[in-house]
Amino acid sequence: MSRTQHDLQTTYDPNQGWSHFVLYSEPQYGIASSGLHGSVSFERPTRRVKEWQDRLQKCEPNPLHTLLVESRKIPSLFHPCVYEDRNSPSAVAQDGCVCFQASYDPEFGLPVVADHHRTVSGNIDHWTYRTLAPTDLRPGDSFASFIIDEATNFWIRTTAGVLVILPEARHGGYSVGYSGGGPNALASYLRKLIETDGEDAAPLEHRFDEKPDRKLVAWTSSKEAQRPQELTLDDLRRIQRG
Ligand SMILES: [Zn+2]
Repeated sequence: MSRTQHDLQTTYDPNQGWSHFVLYSEPQYGIASSGLHGSVSFERPTRRVKEWQDRLQKCEPNPLHTLLVESRKIPSLFHPCVYEDRNSPSAVAQDGCVCFQASYDPEFGLPVVADHHRTVSGNIDHWTYRTLAPTDLRPGDSFASFIIDEATNFWIRTTAGVLVILPEARHGGYSVGYSGGGPNALASYLRKLIETDGEDAAPLEHRFDEKPDRKLVAWTSSKEAQRPQELTLDDLRRIQRG
C-alpha cells in the first residue's frame, strides 16, 4: 500500500473526526508498531510538554495504545493507578505503582500512554509520556515557528498558536548536538521546510538527504542547537545562509 493511496488519510482533522493508521509488524518477534509515524517520549515536564499535556483527554485504552507499550505489559493499560486503587494489579505494596494511563491528543487524534514509575514511599514518582508524532500538520494549519524545547524535544507552533510535535516518520529520529544521523535528519527536514516556505511540513520520504545542507547540519550538530529556542522561517533561513 502506498502512503499516497487516495483514501489513506493519516492526518487527523478534528472537524472530520477520524484518520487512518498503518501498522508495522514483525510477527516472529511479537513486534507491532505504527508503520508511518515516528514514536516520541517525554521524560521531563518542560513548559511545552506541560502545554501539550494540558490538552490531553483521558480515554479507555484502545489498540493504538498497545503500540506504545511492550506486548507483555499490554494488560497493565487496563489497571488503575495506585492513586485510584491501592490494590490495583499495577500497585506495588499498596504504595508504589507501575501503571500505564491512556489518553489521546484531541488536536491530532494520536494515542498517548503515561508510564508511571512510583517507588514504595514515593521517593521517586515519575511519569514518562509516550506518543506517536503526527505525519504532517493538519489541513488548514500554517507553520509559524520551529521550537527546540530540550535537546530531544522538537515542536512546531502553527499560526493559530497550536503546538505540534514535529512531524516525524517511522524511519525518522531527530536530534541535535553531535555529528550523526539524528542531526542530519533534522537538517534535512528543516531544509525542506525552508524550501517550501513552511508549506510542506510532512517528514521526508527518506531519513535524510544524500547530501544534507552543509550549514544546516553544522548548526543541528552544534551545541547552539541544544539550547531551548523558537525560530521563525526567517531565523532558519539566516542559519542556512550561515
Ligand atoms: Zn500509577
